[in-house]
Amino acid sequence: MFDPKPFIRTVPDWPKAGVQFRDITTLLSDPKVFRQLIDAFVHQYFDVEFDAVVGIDARGFILGAPIAYELNKAFIPVRKKGKLPFDTYEESYELEYGSAEVQIHADALAPGQKVLVIDDLIATGGTLEAACKLVTRSGAQIVDCAAIIDLPDLGGSRRMRELGHSVFALCEYE
Ligand code: IMP
Repeated sequence: MFDPKPFIRTVPDWPKAGVQFRDITTLLSDPKVFRQLIDAFVHQYFDVEFDAVVGIDARGFILGAPIAYELNKAFIPVRKKGKLPFDTYEESYELEYGSAEVQIHADALAPGQKVLVIDDLIATGGTLEAACKLVTRSGAQIVDCAAIIDLPDLGGSRRMRELGHSVFALCEYE
């Protein structure tokens, strides 16, 4: 299994003091490593039956689109509020300070479709949970939630599993 850790840059105290930001741009900027990254997910889901990859704004798009393309699936964006032009479903979720909202086009998924939900990183899981709620409201089914990085100490992946979702990540940081 491809280990992305050697290629992830940790930026201390960004965006604020005390935060260790895991920067995946260094994974994307080397063409060989970028291919290994996408191939790792393609390999993981090659034999899984599903219809669409749902990518979360914005780094989930960078991963989700090439994975969907390689596996001949649809790509569906979950976007931050105010970016989608047609009828939408929306979900809000808590941030450390305040809240945020994400949306999906109401007609993007058909009831019964099976989807893979992907983002770059799972921290508290709030973003991923909101995206999964949008998928469920669309009548679609989640086959798996995927990320490059899980931060298990922040409890997001555990919470998602408690909610009945399966979660796959290529690496973890304590
Ligand atoms: P959560 O909602 O608390 O799980 O936070 C996950 C969301 O915040 C994802 O959409 C990530 O892109 C973003 N995020 C939080 N921390 C980091 C980080 O260290 N590196 C990259 N993205 C992060």
